Amino acid sequence: MANTIFKKIIDGEIPAKIVYSDDQCLAFHDVKPQAPTHVLVIPRKEISSLAEAETDDAALLGHLFLVANRIAVDLGLKSGYRVVVNCGVDGGQTVDHLHVHLLGGRGLGWPPG
Ligand code: AMP
Repeated sequence: MANTIFKKIIDGEIPAKIVYSDDQCLAFHDVKPQAPTHVLVIPRKEISSLAEAETDDAALLGHLFLVANRIAVDLGLKSGYRVVVNCGVDGGQTVDHLHVHLLGGRGLGWPPG
C-alpha cells in the first residue's frame, strides 16, 4: 500500500490538528473544511478504502463510527452531524487510506453532489 499522507500523519512525519487518538485510530481536523466542523477519523491500520476492508475489520469499522459520535459530542454538535465515507473514484475518494468524515456546525444539504 502506498505511503499516503494519512500514514505520514499517523507516523508524526507531518503535522495535523489532532482531536482524538487511541490505539486503533486517530482523528484530526480536515485541512480543507467543508463545514464549520470537519474532522477525519482514520484507522491506524492501513486499509486503502472501505472496499478493501475485511470481515476481521468489523470491530475496527464500528469503533471509527463510535469515535466519530464521541467527537461530535465533545465538539458540541448538538443539533446533528453527518458521517461520510467516500469510496473509490466515483465516491470522490482522494486519499487511499480509509477515513470517516465527520461534518457539522451547519445544515447539510441532501443529496450530496
Ligand atoms: P476524500 O476526498 O474522501 O478522500 O477525503 C480526503 C480528505 O483529506 C479531504 O477532505 C482533504 O481536504 C483532506 N486532507 C488531505 N490532506 C490533508 C492533511 N494533510 N491534513 C488534513 N486533511 C487533509
